[in-house]
This record gives sequence, structure tokens and C-alpha cells, in this order.
Amino acid sequence: MMAVKYSWHVLLLVLFILLRFSKEEEIDAKQHLHAYGFLNSTSADAKTLKTAIKKYQQLFGLEVTGSLNADTKKKMASRRCGRPKNIPEFASEVDKWQKLVVTYKIQNWSQPFTEQLIKQFFQNSIQVWTKNVNLQITESRSNSGDINIYFTEQDGPSNILGYAFFPENGDIFFDSAEDWTVTGSLAAERTYFGWVAAHELGHALGLPHSENRRSIMFPYYSSTVKKPSYYDINNLKALYGEASLNNSIFCKGDSIDALLNIDGNIVIKGDQYWTVTDAQLHSGPFSLDLLHPQIPNNISAAFSVHNVVYFLKDDVFYKYKLKNKKLSKKLISVGFDKLPSNIDAAFFETKSKTIYFFKGNNYYMFDITGSVGKRLMVKDKKISSDWQGLPDDLEAATLLKENRALFIKGSRCYITDVVSKTVLDNQDCTSMFYNC
Ligand SMILES: [Zn+2]
Repeated sequence: MMAVKYSWHVLLLVLFILLRFSKEEEIDAKQHLHAYGFLNSTSADAKTLKTAIKKYQQLFGLEVTGSLNADTKKKMASRRCGRPKNIPEFASEVDKWQKLVVTYKIQNWSQPFTEQLIKQFFQNSIQVWTKNVNLQITESRSNSGDINIYFTEQDGPSNILGYAFFPENGDIFFDSAEDWTVTGSLAAERTYFGWVAAHELGHALGLPHSENRRSIMFPYYSSTVKKPSYYDINNLKALYGEASLNNSIFCKGDSIDALLNIDGNIVIKGDQYWTVTDAQLHSGPFSLDLLHPQIPNNISAAFSVHNVVYFLKDDVFYKYKLKNKKLSKKLISVGFDKLPSNIDAAFFETKSKTIYFFKGNNYYMFDITGSVGKRLMVKDKKISSDWQGLPDDLEAATLLKENRALFIKGSRCYITDVVSKTVLDNQDCTSMFYNC
């Protein structure tokens, strides 16, 4: 008798555990379906839940039963992007970056990564995504970018690998608790970072999830899809347009008006500009009006100091604030004490906070941290006496990276160390820079 009573207790306990377990699983499933846009509420009734499960099963190639079977639960727990439903999944969103150059910044990282390794993944991914797309993405020179990249602990290993916001937030978060691998061939067991980086970058550029299993934007992790497909890149082209390059005038040896570094470099000539990626002309021409309708044509030089762009023409300069898109005009003699008109080339060196101006056979250095009236450090000094190997009458100049400036004159490109004022490389621009 005791044995029977005991077994009844065990049975009740098992039943209770099973019921509680399935109840918890149902709650988890409801939360999951709600988070990813299959259910409007976590308090959905049984019929609504069944319909949502069916929809989920259909979309992810599972047997459509409407019940929370083992395969469905397994799928829900498998590795995926965690972008929640606040941006509708599978909807044809058209949200995109409105600016000319989009920047990224790696804010932190965790094992097994280094900053350099993440940068390498992002640069490769950017190259694949934007090679033929009219979109320029570069690493930010300041403390933050348009797209900030973070590693944070999200839900422990597996399930959510990362998520990203759409433009114009664009921030990307990776789960630092994942068992990451940077080697694609080991990706079946461990999580290949390349997939997640390319996927989240897709969101940050404005692409929603895709139902196409071969798409990098499919929400679940794939160890076989490792980079954006032709289909994905076409979707990005639909957002930003296809990059086309008409560089014939430069290939013929025409001069340029100015180079300008606004995180990425652009080449300006007449009333048009061209974008530069990886130290080569990438796409263009575009109308200067796209930057601001009041920027004059045929400028003589341009440079940027943080988020303010200066365009110089004759005896005036235009100050253009990128943040509020406000443009003002002043006399060079008023804004830059003792600087002559008709400057040939200019650039701003970020580390020393110095603006370099070039005119004819002279150059000028302005320290922007100095008090007004005392900013001019070097005046009317000969280029030939201080800059080893740099010619007079330059056309354009820009900062490529810290201490490295590019000068252009005719078909020659001069890569120069700004600190030692030495030309490190002097090449024919047509193939190297103008992509002819
Ligand atoms: Zn995603």
C-alpha cells in the first residue's frame, strides 16, 4: 500500500515538473516569438500562439505543426542575431545614412580579439559590402563614429550573438560571452566572427533581416554563409545606388581643385566631387550641391578641422559646420591673420592641431590652439628649403593618416611625412590614385 502511495506521489511530482517545465517553455516560446515579431503580446491565447508557431516554423523551414516540438525549441535556442522587433523584421525598410561619409569606431573588444583583428574584419567586410555601392565608410579619427562597435555580455554563450541598430544610430553590439573563432574553417562548432560582423554591419547600413537562407542577413547563424551574397549587395545598392566612376578627366591629366578629408577623402574639381576609398578614386562625379548648395565652384583649397569644413576661394573662405549644416563666409584676411589670398593647397594635421597652407613657393602653419592673432607660427617660408622633395605650385593636399599627407601636382602624387617634412614616396597618380 505504501509503495502504491509513494509511486502516486512520484507520478504527481513528475507531472507537476513536466507541466511546470512545459509552462515555462511556453512562456519562453511566447517571449521569443514576441521579441522577434511573430506575436504582438506575450499573453497571447493558445490559438494565436499556434498560428505564430506555424508562421515561425514555415519561415525557418521546420515542419509546420503549430506545436512547440523539439525541432522548434532547438531552432529557437540556436545561434542568431538578436535584433529585436522594435525594427520590424522582414519589412522592406528604406532607412539609410544621409551623409556622404559614414565612419566606424571600435570602442572595446574582448578575447580572442585585438583591436587590429576587429579592424581587419570590418575593413574586409566594408570592402565586400561597398565595393560597387555608392557609400563610403571609413574608420573615425575621433573618439566615436557614426557606427560604434562594442563587446558586451548579452545572454551568455549561444543564442544571441549580437545586434545592431539601423541608421542613423548604427551602433553594433557583439556578445562577449560567445565562443568566437576568427577562422572560417572552424565555424561549425564555434561562432565565426566574420558572419556576425558582416550581418550586423548590414543592419547598421540599413538592411533588415532576409528570408533568403543564403543571405548574410538571414537571422540565424550559418557556418556555410561567410560573407554578403550577390543578393545582399544588390539590396545595399538599392538603398544607396551603384558606385560608378567616371575618372576620364584625371586619366587625361587634368588638374584638380582640392582634396578634402572629412573622415574619408574626396577630390574636388569645378562643381563636382569624387569619393576616395583605400587611397584610390572610388566613385563620382557628384554635384558639390549635395554637400551644400552654397559651396562655390572652382575652389582653390579645402580642409577640415574636426566637424568644420573650410573651402577657400580667392580672398574668401566658407566655413561649413557638418553638424548643423550651417555655412558662413568670411575674408581670409579676417579669419586667418596674415594669410594671403589664393591658397593652392591646405590640410589640417590632427595630432599637432596645425593647419598647413601652401601658395606658390611658400607655406604657412597655423596653430589652432593659439590665441587669436598669435596662431600663425610659420609665415612665407620656402617650400623648397623645408620640404624635402616637394614641388612648388601644388594643386591639393590632404591628411591620409596621422603624420602622413598626400600632395598632388599634375599627375604626380607625393606621400609626405608631416613631422620630418620629407617626401616618402613620389608616384604617377594616374594608376595609383586616379584608378585609371
Ligand atoms: Zn540581424
